[in-house]
This record gives sequence, C-alpha cells and structure tokens, in this order.
Amino acid sequence: MEAKIDEILKHNQLSVTGSRKKILELFLSSAGALAHSDIEKKTGEKFDRVTIYRTLNTFLEKGIIHNIPTPDNSVLYALCIDNCSEGHHHDNHVHFVCSSCGNTTCLQEITIPVVQLPRGFLPEEFQMVVTGLCKACQ
Ligand SMILES: [Zn+2]
Ligand SMILES: [Zn+2]
Ligand SMILES: [Zn+2]
Repeated sequence: MEAKIDEILKHNQLSVTGSRKKILELFLSSAGALAHSDIEKKTGEKFDRVTIYRTLNTFLEKGIIHNIPTPDNSVLYALCIDNCSEGHHHDNHVHFVCSSCGNTTCLQEITIPVVQLPRGFLPEEFQMVVTGLCKACQ
C-alpha cells in the first residue's frame, strides 16, 4: 500500500504530504466511492476541510480520482483506473448505486453506450448511473 501510494504521487509529480498519503490510502482501501464527509470522518481530526478539499482538487486535476454526480447534488469521488492523466479524464464507465447500503461502485469494465443526440445538441460528457442491489445486499 505504502509503495503504491508513493508510486502514484511520484508518477504525478506530487510531493508527499500527510494529507495526500492519507487520502490516497483511503481511496486504495475502499471498495466504493467516497464523499467529502466520508473522508472527513475517516481522517478524524487530522486534516481540516480546506486541506481535504485542496487535496481532492489536486487529485482531480491530476487524473488520479474522478467525481461522480449524485441525485442529491452531493459529489462522490473514486479512483481512476488507468488512462486518466492531467487534465484528461476518460471515465466513461457506468456507476452503480446500491439502494440498500448506498455504496457507489465504478463498473470500470462497462462502457457507457454512445447516444445519438438530435441535431443542434452538442454533448460534453455522458454520465450513467444504475441503481439496484449490490452483491453484498442481495
Ligand atoms: Zn479519470
Ligand atoms: Zn449494497
Ligand atoms: Zn467511476
């Protein structure tokens, strides 16, 4: 885990700080997406909101994590798998939200189908969220 964290930070030319290490560790050890509040809870009193916010923004910019919009307008974050890089995200996969436990999972292997829009509509980003029961809740 430690080596993986150092590798990710080094690869993205980020210096190693306590908050970056801790937050990356949370993402690497969690099965689903994390909300800002989850991160706050899990880092205890160690980092303030601003530090967490800045760290998440840096990770977003670098292509380490992507955000997932939710129906209640809160934002979730999840690790990007491979081909995301600084300023370029390629997270065109389906997200699954469990209606029982509330966990959001990246279904990296399921690509969002291309939707043909009517003339005059210019798409920028496709999001697809599937709700249902996760493996643990069935
Ligand atoms: Zn990404
Ligand atoms: Zn579930
Ligand atoms: Zn995702």
